[in-house]
Amino acid sequence: MEQMKNLTGGDFLVTEPLANDIFIPEEFDEEQHMMAKTCEDFLDAEVFPMLERIDNQELGLMRKLLSKAGELGLLGITIPEEYEGFGQSFLTSMRVNESIGAGYSFSVAYSAHVGIGTMPIVYYGNDKQKSKYLPKLATGAWTAAYCLTEPNAGTDANSGKTRAILSEDGKHYIINGQKMWITNGGFADVLTVFAKIDKDRVLSAFIIKANSRGITLNPEEKKMGIKGSSTRQIFFNDVKVPVGNLLGKRGEGFRIALNILHMGRMKLGVMALGASKRTINQSVTYANERKQFGSLISSFGAIKYKLAEQVIRTFTSESAVYRACKNIENLVSVNLEKGMDRGKAEIESIAKFSVECAMLKVNGSEALDYVVDEALQIWGGMGYSSEGPVDRAYRDSRINRIFEGTNEINRLLATDTTIKKAQKGEFDLFGHAKAVLDGINDLTQPEIPTDNYYEEIRYYIRNFKNAVLMVIQAFSDRFQKNLISEQEIMMNIADMMMPLYIVESTMLRVEKLEQKNGGHYVEIHKDILNVYVYDTASNILKSGRDAISSFEPEVDKLMKMCEALFIYTKVMPLDVKEARRRIADRLIYDNKYTF
Ligand SMILES: Cc1cc2nc3c(=O)[nH]c(=O)nc-3n(C[C@H](O)[C@H](O)[C@H](O)COP(=O)(O)OP(=O)(O)OC[C@H]3O[C@@H](n4cnc5c(N)ncnc54)[C@H](O)[C@@H]3O)c2cc1C
Repeated sequence: MEQMKNLTGGDFLVTEPLANDIFIPEEFDEEQHMMAKTCEDFLDAEVFPMLERIDNQELGLMRKLLSKAGELGLLGITIPEEYEGFGQSFLTSMRVNESIGAGYSFSVAYSAHVGIGTMPIVYYGNDKQKSKYLPKLATGAWTAAYCLTEPNAGTDANSGKTRAILSEDGKHYIINGQKMWITNGGFADVLTVFAKIDKDRVLSAFIIKANSRGITLNPEEKKMGIKGSSTRQIFFNDVKVPVGNLLGKRGEGFRIALNILHMGRMKLGVMALGASKRTINQSVTYANERKQFGSLISSFGAIKYKLAEQVIRTFTSESAVYRACKNIENLVSVNLEKGMDRGKAEIESIAKFSVECAMLKVNGSEALDYVVDEALQIWGGMGYSSEGPVDRAYRDSRINRIFEGTNEINRLLATDTTIKKAQKGEFDLFGHAKAVLDGINDLTQPEIPTDNYYEEIRYYIRNFKNAVLMVIQAFSDRFQKNLISEQEIMMNIADMMMPLYIVESTMLRVEKLEQKNGGHYVEIHKDILNVYVYDTASNILKSGRDAISSFEPEVDKLMKMCEALFIYTKVMPLDVKEARRRIADRLIYDNKYTF
């Protein structure tokens, strides 16, 4: 395995970073904590008391809340200082987003504004466009929306029919078309709209003022969750847009759309953390109050299991998300040193880590779905009632698996992009993978190194990587250039890669925490890690077997690969019941998430 600082995404399959190579959330500094606290105070004061009114879409309320957030500076975190923002780093902005993520529909409106709404201009706007729009977006004087999806162009976004025709005098584009599911659509002032110019086959992007003549809206969509978030169809009927409002170059729209989505995916991954932690707190406080059979329900093993799993999925997600965010931030610094401006440096760095963005969006949204589902279960009938707080969390969580690219598409992307990056020579995946596959004939079961805790976990993780590499190599050998037609197997591989990245991130975090604070400090963290390692072994084994059994016709080869998978996923037995109980007991004792 190569030792290198992680400056390219997707290479985690072939590298072996040390604890000191990664960032852990315990390393956020005072200023970052202060910003996060400001967001939490804002939610406490302005959002949580209003949840019912927000969900009823009280006229003007969401707009007013965004303006208030703007007054506090919360909308300008990533906007450069020369445009009245705070010019904070990618990592800091992600920490802020985690806190806001607890805010139900408000968090969706916030993230659509500061993220997919504003960032296209930060990353791709020219000086004139930035000067005109960013100061107003930073203060909340204007709000923003991102208009990509159309009724017949969802996942296949490039098939959109919205057209931009250059006017005869060459001064305007005339836009006609229809956009669907536009978050903040009901009140946004500034729209980033994707359309094809003339007979182009690829999209271009435009900045359009929402009050332009020819723009009309459908009524609010009636939705299952995030009811307070404005979601509209927007119609463009001969809308005149000055040529100076073309964002980036002609034909660059699809690239802009995709890169903005990479950023949005990572943001969704961190926002899910904020929502998870709030929901865990609601789960444990209720479990610590509710009595049945004369005992608090938090004393029952079945409930402890749920509480512990909520913590495990949140802690492990958090470890991975901030590792990736800091890796992106490190690459931003390298790009800045090369002379790139901040916007370009950031978006290029995010794009390099598109594999991690996709995986962490999927993992974050699915971890949150687990957390809210079990929260509802812990609350029992009161969970199902609208009188309690968790039905909203349950309903609001579900959208996360659909927008910013569905989880199916993000799984496919994670595998496809990894393989393509390797084919382009960004890292040597196939050299390692071929060596692993060639070596399985002579593979014997080595003794597990149990003398040193981290050596043992490292050994497992190395083996998990071998399992993934073996499957990727066999799959590539079998389907050559036609991999993408085998979606089930691509998804199996994504389901191997995701827990692998997360388990490694968690191990490095726990190791770093122990280096800083001593062994006693990480006893519970080790329980979390141990359970996650144990589950990852079974998950990788299952997905790997599903994959190879689906494509390998030669029984001998198939059996050999199955044996190798068993060896690569062998871990020592673990008393998972007691480990989960200890995690739950700590949560129950603290009566809130403190991990
Ligand atoms: C509440 C809400 C807010 C939204 N906000 C915005 C916004 O602000 N701006 C914006 O532009 N869009 C927004 N969207 C749109 C959202 O991004 C799309 O809904 C999403 O991309 C999926 O597109 P679709 O709904 O057309 O589903 P489809 O693309 O029709 O997908 C349907 C199913 O088919 C699967 N599928 C599709 N293609 C493939 C494939 N090639 N291989 C395998 N499976 C596939 C999908 O995974 C999914 O399970 C929002 C949507 C909602 C519901």
